[in-house]
Amino acid sequence: MAEILDGKAVAARIRSEVAEGVRELAERGQRVRLDVILVGEDPASMTYVNMKQRDCDEVGIESKSHRFPADVSQKELAALVERLNEDEEVSGFFIQLPLPDGLDHMPLISIIAPSKDVDGLSPESAGRLAVGLPSLLPCTPHGVIQLLKRNGIEMAGREAVVIGRSNLVGKPLAQLLLRENATVTVCHSRTGNLPEVARRAEILIVAAGRREMVGAEYVRDEAVVVDVGIHRKEEGGLTGDVRFEEVEPVASHITPVPGGVGPMTRAMLLYNTVEAAKRQT
Ligand code: NAD
Repeated sequence: MAEILDGKAVAARIRSEVAEGVRELAERGQRVRLDVILVGEDPASMTYVNMKQRDCDEVGIESKSHRFPADVSQKELAALVERLNEDEEVSGFFIQLPLPDGLDHMPLISIIAPSKDVDGLSPESAGRLAVGLPSLLPCTPHGVIQLLKRNGIEMAGREAVVIGRSNLVGKPLAQLLLRENATVTVCHSRTGNLPEVARRAEILIVAAGRREMVGAEYVRDEAVVVDVGIHRKEEGGLTGDVRFEEVEPVASHITPVPGGVGPMTRAMLLYNTVEAAKRQT
């Protein structure tokens, strides 16, 4: 039976460390504030933003949202990004993605100051990660690494396979695993014989965005399996990219969905906000 990598528990520890960081900064007279830019009325985005603001409240981070209708212009959003870059009261900020049709997120995240890029998704933050310079790290990949580290899972010298090559998850995760000295293979929708490649993995990270795609045939005996996927089930509740019931008996460790990577992602946003605030002092 696999050991469960409990993201909820690790995220709670990170949140209490963040709260301690916020208190220390407050003692030195520094406030910590996270701003979010939310465009349109996408229900999932609105839920995520509300959750992130509740998380901020819990650890003592101030939060402010800047809400716009879906027909806001690219220029108006760019002007706000520039203002938030300059605003000394703002420790960090992010744009809730995806943006409504007609708006292009890349020119906007490209002008976020790296020191305030708490999502870690700007091309400059990505480049800094790739060349080993300090930067704020993308929340989901960093959350995965923290979950592994804090469960005592060794990455150095081990075979890691990442399924997915998005800018949000797969690519930065591969960079972070390299930084931890894993031997990394990145797979994607055009990879031939995916189950065979995945079975090389001592650490298998699945971020394909395909509901319950990965079964036991993808998993080597005693592999550590991290499921990044999130899918809403018609009957309610969440499931991931991995067929948990089938993979759990084969793996040495596995993340549940919910309660695995999701809470870690949320915690790392708070962590980045305090990091950004510290770096601004
Ligand atoms: P994406 O759609 O941008 O990227 C998916 C990647 O998987 C692509 O690189 C694609 O090539 C690859 N892929 C797609 N189908 C494949 C297949 N059949 N075989 C192999 N590779 C395949 O998605 P994303 O933004 O990287 O997110 C991936 C999943 O993670 C989604 O389910 C998303 O909801 C979830 N997610 C979860 C969190 C969290 O906090 N847990 C955060 C971000 C994303």
